[in-house]
Amino acid sequence: MRYESVFEDAVAKVRREGRYRVFADLERQAGRFPWARNHSEEGPPEVVVWCSNDYLGMGQNAVTREAACDAVERLGTGAGGTRNISGTTHLHVVLERELADLHGKEAALVFTSGYVSNDATISTVAQLLPDCVILSDEMNHASMIAGIRGGRCPKLIFRHNDLDHLEELLKGLPYERAKLIAFESVYSMDGDFGEIEAICDLADKYNAMTYLDEVHAVGMYGPRGGGVAEARGLMDRVTIIQGTLAKAYGCMGGYIAASAAVVDAVRSIAPGFIFTTSLAPAVVGAATASVRHLKASNVERTRHQERAATVKRRLREVGLPVMNSPSHIVPVLVGDPVRCKQVTDRLFEKHGIYIQPINYPTVPRGTERLRITPTPLHDDHVVDRLVDALVDVWHEMGLDVDRPQLETALAAAS
Ligand SMILES: *Cc1c(COP(=O)(O)O)cnc(C)c1O
Repeated sequence: MRYESVFEDAVAKVRREGRYRVFADLERQAGRFPWARNHSEEGPPEVVVWCSNDYLGMGQNAVTREAACDAVERLGTGAGGTRNISGTTHLHVVLERELADLHGKEAALVFTSGYVSNDATISTVAQLLPDCVILSDEMNHASMIAGIRGGRCPKLIFRHNDLDHLEELLKGLPYERAKLIAFESVYSMDGDFGEIEAICDLADKYNAMTYLDEVHAVGMYGPRGGGVAEARGLMDRVTIIQGTLAKAYGCMGGYIAASAAVVDAVRSIAPGFIFTTSLAPAVVGAATASVRHLKASNVERTRHQERAATVKRRLREVGLPVMNSPSHIVPVLVGDPVRCKQVTDRLFEKHGIYIQPINYPTVPRGTERLRITPTPLHDDHVVDRLVDALVDVWHEMGLDVDRPQLETALAAAS
């Protein structure tokens, strides 16, 4: 056995498919978002970031920065332990109260990431429920899929947002059997919304629990940033709401909000919660400040929606293949992994625009795309530059502005 060659071959395969991942070596500059310093050989010394999940720029907001610095000064750098063994600072307790209040639930529980919160919670809930079946939207995030696998129970996958299919699957299960329906409120690659109300209706009718990933919505939707379920007045109908502190809140960490019984069980049993050092005080302090700020302020949310709508409109006006997305995410179809990478390389090197190519397995093959995320801090000047640069690259590479064959590929893949 030549061990090394196994790994080299695996990477060679990824390269042949044109989806070898190259990380941009950038340095965010606090207070200058979306501009970042470029440390790679290629491209200009400063670039504009158009693919960040720091959706509202809270990662560089004075409110979060000051809270982080304050927490370091008062408590130091590390939490010093797991939550159970000396790693619960008062800041953690306060953050969990803020999050429970945000979602109108009895309790909340913070994890080291959104990924861990999905993995740990779903697997624990599924293991606790006797003879449980998980019903999972086919577009669910990898972290939910990891949790479902970890639950070691039967799973049924329903076609994306297809309520008839979900109902058909539910009908096939005994009323008394434990069921968990797992889905998202904003699907981050296509930018479409989950059918929260209709899924909760089905859950009531067929006696199921619901698990909603609001990662791409918390902070951004609802009058207090409680997500799409808050915006639609549905928070009390969802059993477990999951979110992240790493995207619109601009920090790090994940959480669930649910009944006291569910949260206490996950807290007491989930290995992904128990056996890891708790989040650092700076992160927890900053996240609390961010959640509080966005409960009270709508300025960022309003401007965010306006910017996303403006970018979509401007790109459509010049005939670029903007995919239909009702949310803040602006996907632009390329439909081929090699070309997708070429497009983003040219945008970066020639125009100083950073957009990471999105390839398989993040999206289905044939639907490779640019995923553009406008924020309140992308002003008209950088929007103009983005539109001009995309038009230039599209023409230079001979990509047509109206691409029926790719639309077909997309329809077939979805
Ligand atoms: C990013 C993401 C997560 C994971 O959240 P992190 O805090 O980044 O670990 C979970 N679910 C979805 C849908 C995501 O896009």
